[in-house]
Amino acid sequence: MDFYGHVIDGEEVPSADGAEFDSIDPYRREPWARVALGSAADVDRAVRAARRAFDEGPWPRMGLAERGAVLHRLAGLLERNAEEMGLSDTRDMGKPITQSRDNDVFRAAANLRFFADHARLSTAETLPMDSGHHAYTRFEPAGVVAAIAPWNYPLMLATWKVAPALAWGNTVVLKPAEDSPVSATKLARLALEAGMPPGVLNVVHGRGPDSAGQALTEHPGIDRITFTGASSTGRVIARAAAANLVPVSLELGGKGANVVFADADLANAVEWSIKAVYTNTGQVCLAGSRIYVQRPIYEEFLARFVAAAEAMVIGDPCDAATQIGPLASEQHYRKVRGYVETVESAGGKILTGGLGDGWTVRPTVVVDMPQTAPHCTEEIFGPLVVISPFDTEQEAVELANNTRYGLNAMVFTENLHRAHRVSARLRAGTVWVNCFFIRDLRAPFGGVGDSGVGREGGSFSREFFTEPKAVIIDVKRD
Ligand code: NAD
Repeated sequence: MDFYGHVIDGEEVPSADGAEFDSIDPYRREPWARVALGSAADVDRAVRAARRAFDEGPWPRMGLAERGAVLHRLAGLLERNAEEMGLSDTRDMGKPITQSRDNDVFRAAANLRFFADHARLSTAETLPMDSGHHAYTRFEPAGVVAAIAPWNYPLMLATWKVAPALAWGNTVVLKPAEDSPVSATKLARLALEAGMPPGVLNVVHGRGPDSAGQALTEHPGIDRITFTGASSTGRVIARAAAANLVPVSLELGGKGANVVFADADLANAVEWSIKAVYTNTGQVCLAGSRIYVQRPIYEEFLARFVAAAEAMVIGDPCDAATQIGPLASEQHYRKVRGYVETVESAGGKILTGGLGDGWTVRPTVVVDMPQTAPHCTEEIFGPLVVISPFDTEQEAVELANNTRYGLNAMVFTENLHRAHRVSARLRAGTVWVNCFFIRDLRAPFGGVGDSGVGREGGSFSREFFTEPKAVIIDVKRD
């Protein structure tokens, strides 16, 4: 079994105390990689290395074009190693290979390329003042960034944080999720190959509480914390950030509502609705896990949706034909299984799906569920959708907004007025109309309520990963 170490100051190293853990392949349900298990001592080494690289190294002082060129080279290396990078995530957490290799790796590369270019082309405000002074803004790197990533899009979400942080001249300590560690070590290896100076991108593996994650968020040498993960963890991390007065960006869970009006293009609505809840086996923060369908088309929508769900290919995620793999870990499987097993006692009915082999849950469709049931209010993070009918636009908006989450929502309608009207009324960071998952990296990304604090993307990432400085010059003296 291959070993994956921390990457600190340009070296791949074991833990200071020699601790290791297994990464489990959730389809084969056996270890496939050995990984260094970090603790506070490893985090401290990494933060010190990042600090040195920030205070003394070339990275923050480089021109934007030169720094951008390194990020573009790293993007190219990811693309050239797409097979290996995709397989790492697939073996770690069971994502179908056509999604990890053909989508996530290229999106990770796109993150790097986009933020390299965005930083280079970014303009800053200048303010000629009536008093004869001139004010302008400098976007200076913030310092050492702690990036904590989840397991559902390991490489893609790591780069979503690392790319803007690096592009703006910061140095980074990345802690990937313990269920998906391998691609982070490989990313850091490739960064060195691309010419990134030692200490600029450090990776420390380990768990969250009482482990590397907690040590990193509590470390006094950190200047920014960017976190993607569960809302409960976000609360803990926000407290750690508050203790050190460190700005924190939290991208948290979701319970996306998908509202399908009777005037929708039904084939389009079914196609996107299936993708919205079953992509990555439902382990997507943006999952459209509550579908509300206007009554005149409810039965027809259900029939088409169930047929499409039943046609999905379940199996080995390394197989290119597979659309639904196992859940990412035994622990997560047990959590999702709990929701499947309590559908009937909560008042609902399973139309299709249920438990599969191993740690697999088949694409599951639930109807007749009371809106107060946990299945309608809690993030399940698996391939289970609750479909409910509604009558009026007002009712649809109320149902969609009836959650503590507010990451995203979908609306399907051919009525342009309704599309704008309902989009404006939905409590969500992103609303997709007649589509899903389409992203422009310049747009704000983040959530309302339990779905997060702050926005990333384009200039929103710039605001977070830099210290904007106002410089005011007296220009009236001769
Ligand atoms: P998680 O919160 O359990 O873990 C995420 C990361 O935080 C891991 O690296 C973990 O080791 C670390 N961690 C856990 N406890 C910590 C602590 N006390 N201090 C510091 N670090 C700690 O989440 P997960 O189960 O890996 O990911 C799934 C969750 O992530 C879901 O809720 C999902 O909706 C959310 N998510 C959100 C987005 C988004 O963009 N909003 C994207 C993907 C996933």
